[in-house]
Amino acid sequence: MDYYSSHINKLIESLSSLPGIGNKSAQRLAFHIINMSDEQVDALADAITGAKKNVHYCKECFTLTDEDLCPICRSEKRNHRQIMVVENTRDLAAYEKTGKYDGVYHVLHGAISPMLGVGPSDIKIKELIIRLQKDVDEVIIATNASLEGETTAMYIAKLVKPTGIKVSRIASGVPVGGDLENIDEVTLLRALEGRTEL
Ligand code: ZN
Repeated sequence: MDYYSSHINKLIESLSSLPGIGNKSAQRLAFHIINMSDEQVDALADAITGAKKNVHYCKECFTLTDEDLCPICRSEKRNHRQIMVVENTRDLAAYEKTGKYDGVYHVLHGAISPMLGVGPSDIKIKELIIRLQKDVDEVIIATNASLEGETTAMYIAKLVKPTGIKVSRIASGVPVGGDLENIDEVTLLRALEGRTEL
């Protein structure tokens, strides 16, 4: 791509390193950015660096937030004795969109995958067990219905059971291998309502 200036090449390269952005899309975005006004480009750059600088894990549930505690963990309207365990913040957002779950969450940031070398200590399982020292009635495991999600669910259930806290798994209305965030709200609700105790 020597026919582009080195700055354009650098921009295309950076953009194409993003998930889901191939070389063609990266070129299209790069030229779009070049044609934006200086103000628009500054705002975009600020949004990226601002998010990176200010967003971190909630110290309670480990979702992404701007503050010490996320709005869900801070809310007195939520049932803090019911913890739904999800793989990532996008899954949390999917359940929040249903507007029908009033418990709190725990975000693992991944799932156990021996194949990819992801072990229990690589995700936020230890942090979940620590949370169970407080008053908790139920842990709802809502990891994906993939092999990794099921392995993670089994692992967590084994750890929670001896504590005497109820542990349940969302129903398998969620298609195998399906990512929670791509599933419609009705299916999510049905999966939640049809959860079974492990
Ligand atoms: Zn939180």
